[in-house]
Formats: sequence, structure tokens, C-alpha cells
Amino acid sequence: MDPSELREVVLDTTVNLLRLAETELPADAVEAIRKALTRESSDVAKAQLDAISRNLEIAGEGKIPMCQDTGTIIFYADVGSDFPLLSDLREILTEGTKRATEEVPLRPNAVNPFTGENSGDNTGNMIPYVNIDIGKGDTLRLSVLPKGGGSENTCSLKMLKPGEGIAGVKKAVIETVVEAGAKPCPPIILGVGVGGGADISLKLAKKALLRPVDNRHPDPQVAALESELLTLTNELGIGAMGLGGDTTVLGVNVEYAHRHPASLPVGIAIQCWAARRATAEISVDGKVTYLTHTAPDGAEQ
Ligand code: SF4
Repeated sequence: MDPSELREVVLDTTVNLLRLAETELPADAVEAIRKALTRESSDVAKAQLDAISRNLEIAGEGKIPMCQDTGTIIFYADVGSDFPLLSDLREILTEGTKRATEEVPLRPNAVNPFTGENSGDNTGNMIPYVNIDIGKGDTLRLSVLPKGGGSENTCSLKMLKPGEGIAGVKKAVIETVVEAGAKPCPPIILGVGVGGGADISLKLAKKALLRPVDNRHPDPQVAALESELLTLTNELGIGAMGLGGDTTVLGVNVEYAHRHPASLPVGIAIQCWAARRATAEISVDGKVTYLTHTAPDGAEQ
């Protein structure tokens, strides 16, 4: 395919991914909320979960954002070195963000930290934030993670002493969830990054939010930690919107990196019930496969 035609496909797919992410949760997240509603014993929490489910239906039917806070736009591009447009990717994603802001529409959320000025189109210095991972091949796997401010404000980084071990990791996660309370609009999803360094653990934690909530880590030890953290955090009883209840956390996804002998960093990313994410794969011939959502009408296939 001609590079200029492929550029249009990537641009249109960027806008489609943003629209899908903002208006429809992936099936695993919807199912997790449905299950939480089914098993909830508190009437107050049930009412909250019911309102969230109705909110999702209205957003999906009307193709309107599920929350007024449409988030900071973050992209993950896993791209093969033989895919053309590598050097144009950031520019295309920025253009797509501007277009989606107008077309969906999205609330402008990019504010200059020094002047307080809002750029008006969800772009600015380093925003949208683009994580690019170059590997082999000629396809582009593009994900978008619009991240709400309320839940972002409760993320944390704990630099543990290595002697605190995995018990310390569990304590750090539980303390963060307790401290967050109602602020991140629970039920939440937890991304936990263990090891690496301060920045690496937080990067891993946030990227872990791209995994489906019902997907366990392939390493059985890590998968067991995910399940245990899910049980422990739900025993806190914070509940939907912090009003008490059986489900505080819908899922826990843990990722790890080898650490320095002297460090045990734990990055904890908190995602709200509006757990927005969308992924598509674009091949070099312009074929687009949507991986988290049904392809929008008229989208390139
Ligand atoms: S934390 Fe999430 S659900 Fe709450 S206002 Fe922000 S985006 Fe919306």
C-alpha cells in the first residue's frame, strides 16, 4: 500500500480507537461489572453498580463518552521495524487525537502545568503520551488508554527495602487502595509493577491496565499474587463509589522486571470503573483488525 494511503488508515484507526475506548468498555470489563452487580449484597452498592451499567448502555447506544472526564490520552504502539511511517507515528497519533477531540467529542484535558492554559485539543508538550516499542515484523499494534484524572491522582510508587519482600508488596498495594478510598471512582482495576526501577515499575503498572481483567499472568507465581491481591483488596469493603460493598476491585494485573539487589520498587496504577482501552492491529497492506471491540461501521478491514 502507498505510504500516504497507509497514513490515512493509521489516522482513521486512531480516531476510531479513541471513539471506541471513550464510548464502550471492552467485553471483559463490562462482564466484570455485571458479575459484581450479581453478587453484591449491599443495596447501596447495587444501586451504584446498576447506575454504572445503565451509564455504559446509554454511552454505547448514543456513541457518547461514558464519563465527562475523557482522560489524558496515552498510546502504546508495538510496531515492527518493517512497518512504514515509523518516524511519522507520533505526528499521526497527535493529529488523530485532535480529530477525535472534535469529532467524538472529547473534553480538552491537556493543561500547561506552569501557566494553567488548556490547549483545547488534548495535545501539548509530550501529550498524547506515546510509548513506542519497536520489534520485528511489519505490523502496528496500536492501543489507546485514556486515563481519568481522579484515578490517576491515587496512583503510587513505593520504594521498598528488598527485605520487605512480597509481603511488603502486598502491604504497599493494600495501603494504596485504602488511601485511595472513594477517590478513584471504584470499583477499580489495579495495575501493579514490581521491580525494575522507580520509573520502570510505574510504566509496567500502567501498561498492565491494557490486559483484560479476567486474564491471569502466565507465570503461576505472579498469577497467584494477582488472585491473592484481588481477594485481600475486596475484603476492605470500600465498595462501589466508596459507599461500602463486596466489590472494590474488579481485577489485579501484575507485571514485573528484574530489580537491583538494593531496590524493590512497586508501582501501583489505579484505573476507575471507566476502564477505557482499545486496541487494533494494522498490517502493512492496510488491513485493520480490532482486538478489543467490534469494528466500527465503515472502518477499514
Ligand atoms: S476517575 Fe474515572 S469515572 Fe471517575 S471521574 Fe475520572 S474518569 Fe470518570
